[in-house]
Amino acid sequence: MTVKENLARIQQEIDIVCQRVGRESTSVKIIAVTKYVSDERAQEVLELGINHIGENRADEGVRKWQVLNGKGTWHFIGTLQSRKVKDIVDRFEYIHSLDRLSLAKEIQKRATKSVKCFIQVNVSGETSKQGISPSDLIQFVNDLKQFPFIEVVGLMTMAPNEDDPEETRPNFKKLKELQIEVQNLKLPYAPCNELSMGMSNDYHIAIEEGATFVRLGTSLVGNMNKV
Ligand SMILES: *Cc1c(COP(=O)(O)O)cnc(C)c1O
Repeated sequence: MTVKENLARIQQEIDIVCQRVGRESTSVKIIAVTKYVSDERAQEVLELGINHIGENRADEGVRKWQVLNGKGTWHFIGTLQSRKVKDIVDRFEYIHSLDRLSLAKEIQKRATKSVKCFIQVNVSGETSKQGISPSDLIQFVNDLKQFPFIEVVGLMTMAPNEDDPEETRPNFKKLKELQIEVQNLKLPYAPCNELSMGMSNDYHIAIEEGATFVRLGTSLVGNMNKV
């Protein structure tokens, strides 16, 4: 399958799901996760008009960004070490993994303008997963007030990888509930209008539950490690 064929199939599925739950398909944005593929593949993604690119490692992400001349809108979706923030802030428009105040502090220190951040929430509570616990979220959002360059555009979660994607649904529902709680704080720096959730195997469920950004690697661009 080419990326073009994959995109057509995925877009069709997104249209069907959106229609079923009464959403506009344009409210769902696809992030092409290029971590498993070559620079050429990533280039192809941009040429097909997918503007959002996601990378989960700082060094590799910066390298790809440079190869592609920074074209497109870049999303940092992996665990972010504070010492890598300086390489990321001015290249990646979105950071999906804000999960601690020390990271917020470093972003504030290194950025030259407002940075769009998702707070990563560990909804499932798995110890292997990054993210802050749901019970700490509201305090965390309030604490971010001290960092004027941090804009909380939304929440992000990594759902557990289940054989039956239906089992991930409660995690997505919970993230939606948390989003509403944050929105209800009505903080100018935390509009929290976006939900980054859903990957190749469960994006249709995430969309039903309100995802506005889905992060697609394998199903869209393929995975060099799996051929
Ligand atoms: C790799 C990765 C993805 C994409 O995974 P696929 O299952 O290949 O679609 C999405 N989000 C994050 C945070 C990732 O690290």
